[in-house]
Parts: sequence; C-alpha cells; structure tokens
Amino acid sequence: MLIDSHCHLDFPVFDDDRSVLLKKCQAQNIDSIVVPGVCRKDWSRILRLCQQQKMLFPALGLHPCFMNDHREDDLHELSQLCASESLLAMGEIGLDFFITHKTSSEKEDKIKQSYFFSEQLQIATQYQLPILIHARKSHQETIQFLKHNPSLQGIIHAYSGSYEQAKEYLKLGFKLGFGGAFTYSKATKLRSLITKLPIDVWVLETDAPDMSPIQHHGERNSPQYLSEIAQTFIELYDTPADEGKILEQLHQNTLDVLPKLKNNSGY
Ligand SMILES: [Zn+2]
Repeated sequence: MLIDSHCHLDFPVFDDDRSVLLKKCQAQNIDSIVVPGVCRKDWSRILRLCQQQKMLFPALGLHPCFMNDHREDDLHELSQLCASESLLAMGEIGLDFFITHKTSSEKEDKIKQSYFFSEQLQIATQYQLPILIHARKSHQETIQFLKHNPSLQGIIHAYSGSYEQAKEYLKLGFKLGFGGAFTYSKATKLRSLITKLPIDVWVLETDAPDMSPIQHHGERNSPQYLSEIAQTFIELYDTPADEGKILEQLHQNTLDVLPKLKNNSGY
C-alpha cells in the first residue's frame, strides 16, 4: 500500500474528476492521502471532503506563501479546530524565503512568516499534532525554530535542502518528503541523498496539483502518479532488496510520523 503524504486534492482544479481520480488511486494500491490546508477559507472545504471520502485525511494550517490572506484571528480559529476536529496533522506551515526580502515590505513579510510559523508550532505542541512543513531557502531558520520546539515531529515536505541539513532534521525526529522533484535526472544533488541517508527518513508525496514528476511534465500533477514517484525511489535506492520491502518501509515511515493513519492504512 502507498500513502500520499501531501496532496492538495481540495483545490478546485480537481472538482471535475476528484472521485474518478480516487478510484484510480485505489486501483494502484494508494490507500491514504493527506490533504493539507493553506488558508483559513479552505479549511471547511478540507474537513467536509475528508468526512465524505474515507481515504482522505485532513491537516489544517496557514501556508507561508499566502501571508496577505492570514489574519491574527486565523490562529485562534486554528486552535479551536485543533480542539474540536479530529485532525491528522497541522500543515502546511513553514517559511518560504525564496524572495530576497530586501525591500521593507519584503522584510515585513519575513517577520510575519516567522510570527505565524512560531505561533502555529505552539498550537501543534499544545495539541500534540505532527506538522507538515514547507521550507524553501529557509532550512537553517526552520531548523532553529524546530530546535525550540523539541517535542514536535513531522515531515519536511518536498525536501530540497542539503545533506547536512537533512541530518539535522533527522536528529530532530523529522521525515523528508520524496516527490516529483527527485524524478528529474538533473536534480543530481537531491537524488544523491537517497543512498546517503537511512531509508527510514523518507516518505512519499505528490504535492499535486504542483510538482509533476518528469513523466507528466507540464501536466496537472495527480495523486495517481504516486506509483511512478515510488518507482523512481526504488531505482535511486539501487540495492538488491526487493521492491515490496522498500515500499513497505516507506509506508511504515509514514505511519511512524503520522500515527493516526495506523487504523486506516495497513499492510
Ligand atoms: Zn503543498
């Protein structure tokens, strides 16, 4: 069985064929899909969808790329929902420093991102929820935040950092998301991490509708492509171990970090 640990299946781009896609996923042994939130306005949609479809699991959070949408009161609402709803995780939360933050409004954005990240880490700690982290050009800062919240565990989604940073995350008890970016042969540095790090650090994800694997470059990404992403992992792992064992390990890794999936997903 495969688990997609990060897929924005609630996005309207899936409205026309969501149920067809879910059937295709089941036919490919994908039994669980984690649907993370990015903005408050989407949270009720995610909760509704996950109630209707047994294989979907909700995470709620405020994504760092949408700072203009987030308000102080969203944190209060998030905390309430953590108390009242059965959430699998908190996410997608984190820091995105892809822009340079040289102008004053960019600097303000960086400060606001750090504030919302820190507040959400506190809420996750309070409700003991695993976290799904978005970190782009911000791994050092993210690691510092996580060091200050040592009881948390989770996934660094769509991992894009270095070997040294991966080891830091590992020490902090985090898993790394393996998705479409690894399927491109030019991503040599990233791909070399597969054999350098222990296998128990990796979890599979699509990040659909973004980050399409190379076989579907330029198309809308879909959770049904998870099996092709898993195939790339097996090729890069490059040991005589049988494929089934590798997939079972990746499945177990996901259950280890998202324990509420255990009752619903199994070998
Ligand atoms: Zn995402």
